This record gives sequence, C-alpha cells and structure tokens, in this order.
Amino acid sequence: MGAPGAGKGTQAGALADRYGVPAISTGDIFRHNIKNETPLGLKVKAIIEAGDYVPDETTEEIVADRLREPDCAPGFLLDGFPRTMHQVRFLDRYLAEQGAALDAVVSLHVDPEALVERLLDRAQKEGRADDNEETIRRRMEVYAGQTAPLLSYYEDEGLLVEVDGTGSVDEVRQRMFDQLDERRP
Ligand code: ADP
Repeated sequence: MGAPGAGKGTQAGALADRYGVPAISTGDIFRHNIKNETPLGLKVKAIIEAGDYVPDETTEEIVADRLREPDCAPGFLLDGFPRTMHQVRFLDRYLAEQGAALDAVVSLHVDPEALVERLLDRAQKEGRADDNEETIRRRMEVYAGQTAPLLSYYEDEGLLVEVDGTGSVDEVRQRMFDQLDERRP
C-alpha cells in the first residue's frame, strides 16, 4: 500500500521476484484494458482519468479472476488492492474460503510534497493519462479519505509493515526486505 507515487509498482515487482510469486497490479490490469479498448477498459477509462476509484464490485471481480489462475497457487503479491474497506472485507472472505491468509501488508510512506514532484516527473517520462496535476491532487485526496484508514485495520491485525519510502529505489527495496526478514518466525 502507499499513496500515488510512493513507489508501489516498482517495489511490488522487486518483492514478487524475491518470493517467486506473481505481482498483481489492479492499476496495470485497468491500464491494459484501457489500451486495448476492452469493455472493461471502456467502462473504467473516465473514472481513472478523473483520479477516482473504480467501483468495488468491478475491481473485486477482476482480482478474484486473477487469483484463480494457477500461478497464484503458491502465493501472490497484490499491488494497489485492497484500497477500500469493502475490498478489505472481500479479500478477507476470499482468502478464508481458500484456507489462505495474508502474510504481511507493506505500506510505503513518503512525504506528500515529494509525491507530487515524483508524479509530475513520471508524467513526463511515462505519459500516464492520470498523472496531470489536477488528477494527482484528486488521487491524493481519494487515497487519504478511502485508503489510508485501512492501515490501522491492518495494524490491528498485526500485519502492517511500514517502510520509509524516501531515498533511492535500491535503498527502499533493501529497507523493505530487511523489515520483512525481521518478521520471519
Ligand atoms: P497509483 O497508486 O500510482 O495512482 P495505480 O496504478 O495503483 O496507481 O492505480 C491507478 C488507478 O487505477 C487508480 O487511481 C484507480 O483509479 C484505479 N485503481 C487501481 N486499483 C484500484 C482498486 N483496488 N480499487 C479501485 N480503483 C483502483
């Protein structure tokens, strides 16, 4: 978990490689569908470009479909999901049905000022449609309102690993690996 621009996608890839599990990014799935103009893509394009969240039911269905694929059997890493309390409850229920559970919830923490800078920088490099200043502000607001509260839920569950997301990609990755290693029984 982490605010927009906190480095979720980058570090999710590193984490998934380390544990040999697939990284499942809801944002990537949506962008892929938008690019290919699928029915799902057409449905979510305007929502994402405005910086709002895709409806829970739609997002949950996509995640459930993806988790049922055989490469997820040994484990998986979710990037950008859950983002609402509704999605948290959905995931809890889904995992319970599978007799599975989360091992950890990693939250990347970065100063909000630095985040806007990073996102504007990414806008120039990657040209993502939702990386313009107005949408960035909206995404920050939505994150603070809907997603930040999930951190205390996962903290109460004893799953939260809060990682300082400032510094280079390598530094953050190492910090995250070290903190996860400390949790190992
Ligand atoms: P970032 O966190 O950097 O903004 P993501 O790639 O994780 O980027 O997500 C991009 C957009 O996709 C979000 O702003 C939102 O509109 C949509 N999205 C991704 N994951 C979810 C989710 N779990 N629930 C609802 N909408 C989502």
